[in-house]
Amino acid sequence: MNIHMTSSGKKLITVIPGDGIGPECIDSALRLIEATGAPVEWEVREAGASVFKKGLETGVPPETIESISKTRVVLKGPLETPVGYGEKSANVTLRKLFETYGNIRPVREMPGVPTPYSGRGIDLVVVRENVEDLYAGIEHMQTPGVAQCLKLISRKGCEKVVRLAFEFARAEGRTKVHCATKSNIMKFTEGMLKRTFEAIAPEYPDIEAAHIIVDNCAHQLVKRPEQFDVIVTTNMNGDILSDLTSALIGGLGFAPSANIGNEVAIFEAVHGSAPKYAGKNVINPTAVILSAVMMLRHIGEFEAAALIENAIIVTLEEGKVRTGDVVGYDRGNTTSEYTDEIIRNLGRKPTQTFVRDYKPIRLPEVSPDPVTVRPNIRRVVGVDIFVESELLPEPLGHLLESLAEDSALKLKMISNRGTKVYPPTGAITDVVDHYRCRFVARDAGTELTDAQIMELLQRVASRVRWMHLEKLQEFDGEMGFTKAQGED
Ligand code: NAP
Repeated sequence: MNIHMTSSGKKLITVIPGDGIGPECIDSALRLIEATGAPVEWEVREAGASVFKKGLETGVPPETIESISKTRVVLKGPLETPVGYGEKSANVTLRKLFETYGNIRPVREMPGVPTPYSGRGIDLVVVRENVEDLYAGIEHMQTPGVAQCLKLISRKGCEKVVRLAFEFARAEGRTKVHCATKSNIMKFTEGMLKRTFEAIAPEYPDIEAAHIIVDNCAHQLVKRPEQFDVIVTTNMNGDILSDLTSALIGGLGFAPSANIGNEVAIFEAVHGSAPKYAGKNVINPTAVILSAVMMLRHIGEFEAAALIENAIIVTLEEGKVRTGDVVGYDRGNTTSEYTDEIIRNLGRKPTQTFVRDYKPIRLPEVSPDPVTVRPNIRRVVGVDIFVESELLPEPLGHLLESLAEDSALKLKMISNRGTKVYPPTGAITDVVDHYRCRFVARDAGTELTDAQIMELLQRVASRVRWMHLEKLQEFDGEMGFTKAQGED
C-alpha cells in the first residue's frame, strides 16, 4: 500500500468528521494524534448528511473521492442518510467504491468499565466481509406484494476476507479463528464462506480453525465469549454479531473498526451519529480514538499507536475521568475533559492490563482477474421462471403444462416462497401471488439451448405475467441450484 507523503515528509490522511457526534469524536482523536507528534497531516473532506442536503444523491462528493484516491487512508466519523435524501448509505458507498472488502471489529474488556462480563477477559475480533452479501443492495419488488433481495457471495470475496482474518490473527499473535455461517440453510451462499475457510485454513497450521453455525455463535458469545479469538463471517452476520460483541465490553463507545482494502483503508467507530448527543460534548470518543490507533498501525506508526492505546487504558484503570456512558450522564465528565486526561497520560503504561504486541498485517494477494473459478464442463439443464399469478397452484400447474406441451422443456414443479406446491404434496402452504416454476429438459441428459428457453418463455408469457428467469446449470456435474422444500 502506497501512503501519500506531503512535501514536508508527513503521511497524508483524509479526515471526514461526519454527522451528529462525529466531529466531537474526530476532534478528540486528532488532538491525541497531534499530541504524540506522529508525522501525519490531515486533508479534511465532507460526506454524509450535509452532502445529501446539497442534493448529491451519493452523499460522497468528488473532492472526497479524489482525496481518498490520493491518500488511500481515511479516518471518518459516522455518516447519516437523512430521511428523504438519497437512497444509498454514504458509508456503504465509500466501502464499495474503494473495495474495502474486510471490516475488522475488535472488542476487549476495558478496565474500569463494569459489565456483567467483567473479569472474564473478553478479547476478540469480528472480521466481517464488507462489500457483498445482502448489502450488495440488489433489491426488487417482484410483485406489488413480494420483495426480493439478492444475496451475492463470491469465491473471490470469501477468499480475501478469510485470508485477511488469518493474516490479522497472525499479526496480533492470536491463535484461533472461527468461521460463523448459516451454511446449514444457505448451502451455496453461506456455504461458500465455509468451504473457502476450510480450503484455506490448512495454509495456517499455527492457527486453530473451527466452523460454527452463526446462531450458535450468537448464543455462545453471550454465554461464554472468552472462548473466541477471531470470528470471520459474512456481511450481515458480521453486522449483527459485532454490535452484540460491542455490548459485551461496555457498549458502542468502546468499539473501533477498520475497513480494509488492498488499495484503501477506512477507519471508523462501529457506532453511528447518535444524534441525541450531538454537540453536547458528553459522548465517549474512545471508539473513534481506538479506530485512529488502528489507522496509525496501518500506516506503520506503531509507537504513536501504543502511546495512545496505553494512555486510554491508564485513564480507564485510574477512573478519575469517565464519560457518561460508563458512569451515567448526570455524573460523567465531558468528552473534552476525558480527551485532555488521555493526553495527560501519554507516555504512561498500564499496570494491570495486558498490552498486545502488534505487527504489520500482510494483506492478501488478490488477482485482478475477475474470474477465479472456471469449470471444465458447464451444462444448462433447466430454467426457473418466476411468475406473478392469482391462480392457485393446481390450475397454474395445468396451464403451464399445457403451454409447455411439445416444447423442449417440461414443468417439473412449482414452489411458493421455496416450498413445493405443485404437483400437490399434501402440505398446507399459505400461497402468495409469486411462484417459481421449474422447467427441465424433456429428454433428461440433453443440454438446453438459449433458443429453447426463450421459446418456452414466450409461451409462458402469452398467458402468465413473469418477472424473473434463472437458468439451472450444472458445473462439472454438480447441481448449481438448490431444490425446493419437498422437491425430489
Ligand atoms: P448509534 O448512532 O450508534 O447510537 C445508538 C446508541 O448507542 C446511542 O443512542 C447511545 O446509546 C450509544 N452510543 C453510540 N455511540 C456512542 C458513543 N460514542 N458514546 C456513548 N454512547 C454511544 O445508532 P443509531 O441511533 O441507530 O444511528 C444513528 C444514525 O447513525 C443513523 O442515521 C444511522 O444510519 C447512522 N449510522 C452510521 C454508521 C456509520 O457511519 N458507520 C453506523 C451506524 C449507524 P444510549 O442511547 O443508550 O446512550
